[in-house]
Amino acid sequence: MTFDRTVPDVYLHIGDEIRKRGSGGTYDHVFPGNGEIQGPVPMGGADDVSDAVRCGQQAFPAWRAWKPADRARVLRRLAELMERDTDELARLSVLDNGMTQVMSRPLVEIMTAWTAYYAGWADKIEGRVTSVPAHQRELAYAIPEPYGVVGVILTWNGPVVSVGMKLIPALAAGNTVVLKPSELTPYATEHLMRLVREAGIPEGVVNLVLGGPEAGDALVRHPLVQKVSFTGGPATARRILAACAESLKPAVLELGGKSANLIFPDADVDSAVTTNAGTVCCTLAGQGCAIPTRMLVHRDIYDEVAEKVVAMVSALRCGDPLDPATLVGPVVTRAARDRITGMIERAPGEGATLLAGGGAPRDVPPNGFYVEPTVFGDVDPTSELGQVEVFGPVLSLMRFTTEDEAIEMANATRYGLASYIYTNDLGRVNRLATQLQAGGVYVNGAQPVTGHELPFGGVGISGFGREGGHEGLFEFLRTKAVAVA
Ligand code: NAD
Repeated sequence: MTFDRTVPDVYLHIGDEIRKRGSGGTYDHVFPGNGEIQGPVPMGGADDVSDAVRCGQQAFPAWRAWKPADRARVLRRLAELMERDTDELARLSVLDNGMTQVMSRPLVEIMTAWTAYYAGWADKIEGRVTSVPAHQRELAYAIPEPYGVVGVILTWNGPVVSVGMKLIPALAAGNTVVLKPSELTPYATEHLMRLVREAGIPEGVVNLVLGGPEAGDALVRHPLVQKVSFTGGPATARRILAACAESLKPAVLELGGKSANLIFPDADVDSAVTTNAGTVCCTLAGQGCAIPTRMLVHRDIYDEVAEKVVAMVSALRCGDPLDPATLVGPVVTRAARDRITGMIERAPGEGATLLAGGGAPRDVPPNGFYVEPTVFGDVDPTSELGQVEVFGPVLSLMRFTTEDEAIEMANATRYGLASYIYTNDLGRVNRLATQLQAGGVYVNGAQPVTGHELPFGGVGISGFGREGGHEGLFEFLRTKAVAVA
């Protein structure tokens, strides 16, 4: 069956209004698979953001006063609509950023699962009553309250997943939201906005401003926005945090990673190789924040692992994401491709050994933004490849001798999003889990994000704040103390 390449007209959704034009002009959306312009996207500017925030502010008292069970009901309905429209959302996700079809459907399913999960939380938010009536108080209690209008800024690699991680818990907690996806990925998010309305979520509770950095900056700085939740790169995060500092506004920042996978001789090597190499090359062509891009291998099994990784990666061809058999699609923009190939070209000069790939990909559509899946061996942990996030299908192998050395190498970057371990020694798992500096530790193939009941987030320049579990819900609640004498 041929892939339906029709792109929808997309609009800004502000209160009860659908805006065909934004004050930020128009963006010509490019399909990464062939470099062709797919269609114009209206860009919101500061005026649109201001209107959207005001709508969110107006809608907040009524939405907050909704019975929690009713909030749960409409969010469950939203999850049902996401499920109903899985095919369309997956199709739009491919057109958004050129992700493969193999990837697009599972990501929609992950978002739906997160939505159903947080729908369940909406009527289970509780405070606490203190047991000691100190200072003559008869009654003292703490109650969680929503913030008001929350600004949610998404990046382009997996916007539907971020919707499940950010928008839904914010709504479950009783906030209203102004949502700003990346200018590079408008389609799936705009479709979701239509589902928000169909689910019966009142106008103004969710407002969608398509747009770029200007709209994002206006959203962060708006005085009525009480909290910011952002996914993107550390450079943008610094600008956002600086803007938040002016009004002392809190923020959740989910940033990048340089995650290590520690593979010990007692591990299931085949499983480690398949999961690691497959994740780095096939997950959004390496454009995933938590993927294990540094494979730290014990020297006793290094050669075996390297040989198997090379065999696997060499068999992966990048190609057209409109072909359902493609496992490695394009990266998001020409600039991203050039940045990644620059890193590949510089790596041998810093001592890395090219083991696979590294050249121009063959048999790909002309003018698309493709990068050949690439493996480097004996990467110097202090080199660019050992330190800087590539965000492309490039895997670095490093060898270690002792457990302590492995921990030191794993922790020797400024990032700290995820760490992975392959071993069958439970004592080692427990030792390493304590010592690895990362927001999450995943053992023998366990993956972050797919488990919405656990918190996900970073340490160091991977950011702060958590998404998932009750921690992710409580990012959108602040606690008020009430004492009655
Ligand atoms: P980016 O940081 O440039 O942009 C992300 C979003 O921020 C976009 O919506 C953009 O329009 C907006 N933006 C840009 N400038 C802004 C400003 N000054 N104020 C407010 N908003 C602004 O995106 P990028 O760097 O291309 O994204 C890739 C990065 O995102 C990678 O480093 C990746 O690891 C990270 N990422 C992290 C996670 C996570 O959950 N931790 C998930 C996906 C991607």
